[in-house]
Amino acid sequence: MATTMLQETETTPTQTSTKYVYFFGGGKADGNGKMKDELGGKGAGLAEMTNAGLPVPPGFTIQTEACREYMRQGAASQAVDRQMEDALRRLEQLQGQKLGKGDNPLLVSVRSGAKFSMPGMMDTILNLGLNDESVESLAKRSNNPRFAYDSYRRLIQMFGNVVLDIEKEEFDKVFDAKKKQKKAKLDTGLDAKALQEVIAEYKKVVKKHAKRDFPQDAHEQLVMARDAVFRSWQNDRAKHYRRINNISDDLGTAVNVQAMVFGNLGDTSATGVGFTRNPATGDKEFYGEFLMNAQGEDVVSGVRTPLPILELQKIMPEVFGQLREITSRMERHYRDVQDFEFTIQDGKLYMLQTRNGKRTGRAAVRVAIQMVEEGLITKEEAIFRLEPNQLYDFLVPRLDEKSAKIEVLAQGLPASPGAAVGQIVFTADEAVAKAGHGAKKNPVILVRAETTPEDIHGMEVAAGILTSRGGMTSHAAVVTRGMGKCCVAGAGDIEVIEKTRQMRVKGQVFKDGDWISLDGTTGRVITGRLKTMDAKPDDPELLKFMSWAEPFRKIGVRANADIPRDAIQARAFGAEGIGLCRTEHMFFGEEKLPHMRAMIMARDEKERRAALKKLLPMQRSDFIGVFKAMDGFPVTIRTLDPPLHEFLPRREDLMVEIAVLEATKPKSPKLSQLRTMLRRVEELHEFNPMLGHRGCRLGITYPEITEMQAQAIFEAAVAVAKDGVKVKPEVMIPLTATLKEMANQAAIVHRVAKEVFKDKGRTVDYLVGTMIELPRAALVADEIAKEAEFFSFGTNDLTQTTFGFSRDDVNKILPTYLAEGILKQDPFAVLDREGVGQLVRMATERGRKTRPELKVGICGEHGGEPSSVEFCHQNGLNYVSCSPFRVLTARLAAAQAAASEKLKVEGGRTK
Ligand code: ADP
Ligand code: MG
Ligand code: MG
Repeated sequence: MATTMLQETETTPTQTSTKYVYFFGGGKADGNGKMKDELGGKGAGLAEMTNAGLPVPPGFTIQTEACREYMRQGAASQAVDRQMEDALRRLEQLQGQKLGKGDNPLLVSVRSGAKFSMPGMMDTILNLGLNDESVESLAKRSNNPRFAYDSYRRLIQMFGNVVLDIEKEEFDKVFDAKKKQKKAKLDTGLDAKALQEVIAEYKKVVKKHAKRDFPQDAHEQLVMARDAVFRSWQNDRAKHYRRINNISDDLGTAVNVQAMVFGNLGDTSATGVGFTRNPATGDKEFYGEFLMNAQGEDVVSGVRTPLPILELQKIMPEVFGQLREITSRMERHYRDVQDFEFTIQDGKLYMLQTRNGKRTGRAAVRVAIQMVEEGLITKEEAIFRLEPNQLYDFLVPRLDEKSAKIEVLAQGLPASPGAAVGQIVFTADEAVAKAGHGAKKNPVILVRAETTPEDIHGMEVAAGILTSRGGMTSHAAVVTRGMGKCCVAGAGDIEVIEKTRQMRVKGQVFKDGDWISLDGTTGRVITGRLKTMDAKPDDPELLKFMSWAEPFRKIGVRANADIPRDAIQARAFGAEGIGLCRTEHMFFGEEKLPHMRAMIMARDEKERRAALKKLLPMQRSDFIGVFKAMDGFPVTIRTLDPPLHEFLPRREDLMVEIAVLEATKPKSPKLSQLRTMLRRVEELHEFNPMLGHRGCRLGITYPEITEMQAQAIFEAAVAVAKDGVKVKPEVMIPLTATLKEMANQAAIVHRVAKEVFKDKGRTVDYLVGTMIELPRAALVADEIAKEAEFFSFGTNDLTQTTFGFSRDDVNKILPTYLAEGILKQDPFAVLDREGVGQLVRMATERGRKTRPELKVGICGEHGGEPSSVEFCHQNGLNYVSCSPFRVLTARLAAAQAAASEKLKVEGGRTK
């Protein structure tokens, strides 16, 4: 009895019921293309291609659950080991080979592959199974010792780096020294003997840094490689990439073990990558590169210059034809642009990977339209073929690709979109010296290994920035994105030699004054002086695409605009009104600031009114401009919000100025003015100005400010109405927390409106509402709605006050919080649905209980962020409002949110 029970528990433990390993080969796969969650993108693609009868080297995929288990337990389970052994045996049988054994040894690649492609995040190991013995068999069998030793040294190098954590550089040093010694220009210039010497030295490198020998046992190699791939899920690069791309840390990666095919067997072998359509422009053309006699990453690593894929037609017409046929078939099958990898071994083509290709925003729009026209996808599907943020590509200048032949010098990261053409400079000071001013303006491209804060002055005047190091979050990338300036970062093939003022790339030397062109949207660095084309928000393809998306959209999109120029811009991008017009920005103007200061310095109401009177006509004319630009659309104008000291000089500056005057011109009449100013600044000083005398608190303590603003608004409204402009002002009271605050300010606005209308003999429709930026306001929203005719969530301040984070100081904390996973995202960038979002939802519900027709919108930075827009749609807000340059993005995000509800599709986006 006891034995039977024991056997039962042994044969049916819960682990063995999980299928960890999926085989593919011999025309059939256990998995399929839909199983990205389990097999990862790469594994699903290999399975799907195998099932479609394409020439794919056989192998197996260890699914993501095994990785999650490894992360939980720190080791692979026995069930995983056992299933892997079974699959390996099956592969050996199919191939008639044994892993790393016999005179025809089986070699495999070990490839990571998560659900979402994470380029360059986890490295692949090729030629696994080679050791001192099997390399000799390979040499004999291929009749090509050079190839065999080359494959072996690559294995030691990749294994050493990926599995044993040895710096790539350590191997590069050995390799480069050998090339120098043998006077070889290219990697392929090293012969078999030289490579044997490299191998011997590589082994020493391993021994020295890993404190162990390179494992000779093929099986041990496989287990170690598999586990290293699992661990790589947790490396910093991978974590970082997931964070910026909003990919969950819990997914884990799959591991693909696949029989090797060799592109480095000689002149009838090659390896390459390609796209079924041009990923930069979207044009329908076969696009890609290949290298003869090469393996794996050689094509993208830049050691040798690859050939354009169309050249393959001349060298191997038959294989080229087959590749075209297969890739077009894959494109039709997946109904999307394919990004593929292939290898040709001795004239025979193998497919190694396919996935939906990443593309620029422009290419995405063009491809979506083409595919609808070709009948491949529907218009509804087409609108999901673009991430809303990609629309930004239409708002920046770009290179004129047709006007000249494009010679790509190097490929870097698309750090900040747009295009820049200029003459090279190597330091920030040179940039300033050469860039010139006004009519003498001279476009320069600042080329640096990396930028630092000391380069800011040069970055400001440069047309574009190019760096050879650093990633998407490097100083150069972050700063240029903030400046809206084109930047290509991390172009690793470029060597910047500041001392001699030189830039070396692909054997060419560039000096300061040479012309180059940058494409910050694709990361390309291009030789010479290309033409640029200005952004066109009325691009016909963009309009067509948006016309398919727009009918789905339920919520309005407005813009935050303070001055007529921005309002006009916003209209051009399709804004349906202004959701936030900040009046204080009007006060910062050169001619207004003195009156504003006089108002603040006033000793009593009388003086204050006198200063306000001077401001009135200026405000009125600004409002007239904004109303005209928004003809017929609503304009939300917020009454004065920031603490008054923001309009005065800084205390420290005043003290310095006073001290200087005291020392140099003690009799100057200016001195007493400055002292008065300093006294007022000190009076206004607050410990927490963001929580201080600001918002409606200003209008309540100084009602004459609200009065003047209301008067300017209504006089402007009446004036434009008389000119036949349709006008709809919405007066917004900031930072209310109680009903009485709202009532106090609303009473002033209503009274002034009545006065103006009577005085001018004409009325206009208007609303008075509030900005909800304090948790208390959200809690008592039903009360506040008795007086407020609309709500607009000021989600920047609401995030500050809900979290108790100061937005201006949060960067001391945020990086740690994100790295530790305490917060998933920056809550100032992506609306915190759980907390802040809950307040938004609750306040909307409560407000509408009191006033069912209550208009509700948001006007924080979140109004232009796709996931926050989706949240607003789902919670029944009437509109979002964002900066003019994000209006297009918000429109598409709102349309997608509505469409995915209506069509019940997940979006099928490519990540
Ligand atoms: P990545 O995710 O970085 O694209 P891959 O796993 O696709 O990594 O592999 C890197 C390179 O190695 C690719 O160029 C691929 O074509 C090549 N490669 C992978 N497996 C094999 C194989 N079994 N035979 C030949 N080349 C391979
Ligand atoms: Mg790949
Ligand atoms: Mg605010």
